[in-house]
Amino acid sequence: MNIYDKNLEELEEYFLSINEKKFKAKQLYKWLYQKKITSYDEITDIKKEIINKLKEDLSLEKVSIVKIERDKDVNKYLFKLSDREHIEAVLMKHDYGNSICVSSEVGCNMGCKFCESGRRKKVRNLRVSEMVTQLLLVEEDLKSKISHVVVMGIGEPFDNYDVVMNFIKIINNPYGLQIGSRHITVSTCGIVPKIYEFMEFPYQVNLAISLHAPNNQIRNQIMPINKVYPIEEVIVAIKEYIKKTNRRVTFEYIMLKDINDSIACALELSKLLKGINCYVNIIPYNETENISFKRSEVFQITKFYDILKKNNISVTIRREFGSKISAACGQLRSKKEEL
Ligand code: SAH
Repeated sequence: MNIYDKNLEELEEYFLSINEKKFKAKQLYKWLYQKKITSYDEITDIKKEIINKLKEDLSLEKVSIVKIERDKDVNKYLFKLSDREHIEAVLMKHDYGNSICVSSEVGCNMGCKFCESGRRKKVRNLRVSEMVTQLLLVEEDLKSKISHVVVMGIGEPFDNYDVVMNFIKIINNPYGLQIGSRHITVSTCGIVPKIYEFMEFPYQVNLAISLHAPNNQIRNQIMPINKVYPIEEVIVAIKEYIKKTNRRVTFEYIMLKDINDSIACALELSKLLKGINCYVNIIPYNETENISFKRSEVFQITKFYDILKKNNISVTIRREFGSKISAACGQLRSKKEEL
């Protein structure tokens, strides 16, 4: 067992199971997540016998950083896992803080046609500890705190649901990494039953939906998941989610040249989202070597934006961070493994 797999309640249960007081879990959390110890020997306020027991029972192993690509306001990290698999995270320095994009799986089974990770298929789920320690190592490298987390790296978070929810509990915990739940966003390609489950999750976490098309005909071509959960079912689930949580939803929309970027698409999208408490994040596509989709022209992106705006849809164009470094989902991992 790895200690970073345990949320606070689970660690309290552990202490009770070894006949210790459960407040020790909070004490230990501070050492793990605030003081960021690398050995149990650094702990000064827990007695020796317990430390020895911890050493026996719970490993402190983290993922390890094998490569960092640095640009002005973005770092991309490649991590190695204990079974030699690789995952990646991207750190973006905004004026409002440090935002990290983390992976949730090794590879991905959703098979989106434009996505490098989808091309590679899923190897396995990440463990909670593998998600949490990505953050610990990046904070250490930055020598400052991460303030925002988006689960938008490699993988489909709702395909590894329980792990991702536990990850959120740990990073949000006041004794853990203290990342405010409103600063955490989970992005899904639209696994409808999990959207219903997520609306019951008692943390004020944001939800983003990778929509990328205004209708089934186009979405079916680029996102196979749409054949299982078509667009109208996603929209019904989102309306229910908003009713239940009162939170605004983000729709991500990558601009793919001649696929989903026409004026007709912009009009259809405006109609689809009319009256929904949401905003659209237009994402210029990051082209990737092995996939033939192209990024839309700037004037086309601007036109698309203007049409949404005119139709009273809140919309932003995502600021570009990582196109010089390999920042599109899965590119760094692919480069490493296909050498
Ligand atoms: N599986 C989840 C989260 C991981 S993908 C989801 O689908 O939302 C995170 C986002 O990056 C998704 O919106 C995905 O569609 C988008 N994406 C994937 N490859 C991309 C690329 N090459 N350029 C821009 N965005 C990309």
